[in-house]
Amino acid sequence: MDALIDMSAILFLGVLTVYVGNLALVYNRRSAWARRSHKLSQDYLRAEIDLITDRRRIEREKTDLSWNGFRKFEISSKTMEAAGTCSFYLAPHDGKPLPPFEPGQFLTFNLNIPGQTKPVVRCYSLSDSPNHPESYRVTIKSVPPPRDRPELPPGLSSNFFLDQLDVGDIVDVKAPSGHFFLDMSSHKPIVLIGGGVGLTPVLSMLNAVVESGSQRETHFFYGVVCGADHAFKEHLQKTARENENVHLHVCYSQPSDGDVEGEDYQHGERVSVDLFKRLLASNNYEYYFCGPPPMMNSLVEGLEAWNVPEKYIHFEAFGPASVKKKLDGKAQEAASGGPTLNVNFARSDRSVPWNAEAGSILELAEANGVVNISASCRAGNCGSCITAIKDGEVEYLNPPGSPAEEGSCYTCIAVPKSDLVIDA
Ligand SMILES: Cc1cc2nc3c(=O)[nH]c(=O)nc-3n(C[C@H](O)[C@H](O)[C@H](O)COP(=O)(O)OP(=O)(O)OC[C@H]3O[C@@H](n4cnc5c(N)ncnc54)[C@H](O)[C@@H]3O)c2cc1C
Repeated sequence: MDALIDMSAILFLGVLTVYVGNLALVYNRRSAWARRSHKLSQDYLRAEIDLITDRRRIEREKTDLSWNGFRKFEISSKTMEAAGTCSFYLAPHDGKPLPPFEPGQFLTFNLNIPGQTKPVVRCYSLSDSPNHPESYRVTIKSVPPPRDRPELPPGLSSNFFLDQLDVGDIVDVKAPSGHFFLDMSSHKPIVLIGGGVGLTPVLSMLNAVVESGSQRETHFFYGVVCGADHAFKEHLQKTARENENVHLHVCYSQPSDGDVEGEDYQHGERVSVDLFKRLLASNNYEYYFCGPPPMMNSLVEGLEAWNVPEKYIHFEAFGPASVKKKLDGKAQEAASGGPTLNVNFARSDRSVPWNAEAGSILELAEANGVVNISASCRAGNCGSCITAIKDGEVEYLNPPGSPAEEGSCYTCIAVPKSDLVIDA
C-alpha cells in the first residue's frame, strides 16, 4: 500500500514537473525567465521525488537490517578531535550491512570493564551522517571526577574508551535508537545547537543536511570554553565555506590567549537566546539542541519566552533530564500536595508514599533502600532500569528513547499515575 502511495506521489510529481515546465514554455516561449523557471521547477520537483524515494528506501532498510539485543562491532579507527575527545569508528564484526539511522540518534553499549562486577551500559550519539553504511561513528569525551570531589574515580566508560580501547577491539552495541532526530523531509529553516560534547547529535544532523544536497537554511551554534575544546574545527569551517545555506557561529565562553576572534571563533560569550535575537532574522526556525543542563534550561526558557512554539523546540540531555514535562491527573494532584500515591516494591516487600519531591520511581526506590533496580543513563535511553509493572499505571517525565516492553517501564523517568506495584 505504502509503495503504491509512493508510486502515485512520484508519478504525480513527475507529471506536474512536465506540466509546470510546459506551461511556462507555452506562455513565455522566448523569454529567458521561462527557461530559468522551467529549469528551477524541474530541479525542485526532481529533488522532491528523490526525497520521497530515499525516505522509502531508508524505512525499508531500517526494518530489514536492524538487529535485536547486542551485536559485535570492531573499532576500525580512532581519531582525537579535541582535548580528551575522541572519535571511534565501529564496523560490524559480522561484515553485514548496517541499517540507516535518523540523524540525532544514539547507540547503546554494553561494556565489560576490568574491575567491574557487572557490565557497564552507556549511550553515545552517532556523530556522523547516516550515509556511511560500512561503519558508525561515535565521539566520546572523557569525564573527570567532579570538581568538588577530586578523590572520586573518573568516569568509567568514557575513560575506558579513551584509555583502553583501541583499533581491533570488539564492543557490544544495540541498534540505533532515540526520538531526538531531525525531520529530513521538512524544509523549515533550522537552528542546531551543541554545547561541549553535546555537539555530537547536531553534527550528525548538519552532515545529513549538507550531504543530502538540501538548501535548507541552517544555523549551527557550537559553544565550548576555549580553542582546546573545539572539536571538528576544520570540518565545520569547510562545511560553512562550501555551503551557502550553512551559517556557523562558534562561541568561546573563556577564550585562551592564543584564540583569535573572527578566525577560531565568532563570539566570545555563551550560546544564548540573546545571541539568537542578534543573529537570526526572526524566531521562525525549528531548534534542535544538546548540551550541559544549565545551557539546556536557559535555552528552553528563553525560546519559550521568545514565543517559539513548543513543537519547534527539540532537545536531548546526556545525563538525567533537567527539563521535565508537566504531570497530568493524579500525579499532578499528588505533586502539588494532594493525596499521595502509594508505590509497593513487591520483591523488596516495601510500600512507600510518592510525591513530587520523591522524583522518579528509581529515585524513590534508591531513597528507600530498594537496591534491585539497575541504572545507567538516568534519561530513559539505555534501558538498564526497565522494570515490570505488576499493577497500576505510570507516566513519563520525558519520552523514552524507545518504547519499553508491554507491562514494563523505564523507572528512571517514570512517576506513578495511580497506586503502583512494581516488580523490584
Ligand atoms: C542519549 C545519550 C547520548 C549520549 N551521547 C554522548 C556522546 O555523544 N558523547 C559523550 O561523550 N557522551 C555522551 N553521553 C554521555 C555518556 O553516556 C556517559 O554518561 C558519559 O560518558 C559518562 O559516563 P562514564 O561512565 O564515563 O562516567 P560515570 O562512571 O557514569 O561517572 C560520571 C561522574 O560521576 C563521578 N563519580 C564516580 N563515582 C562517584 C560517586 N561514588 N559519587 C558521585 N560521583 C561519582 C565520576 O567521577 C564522573 O564525574 C550520552 C548520554 C546519553 C543518555
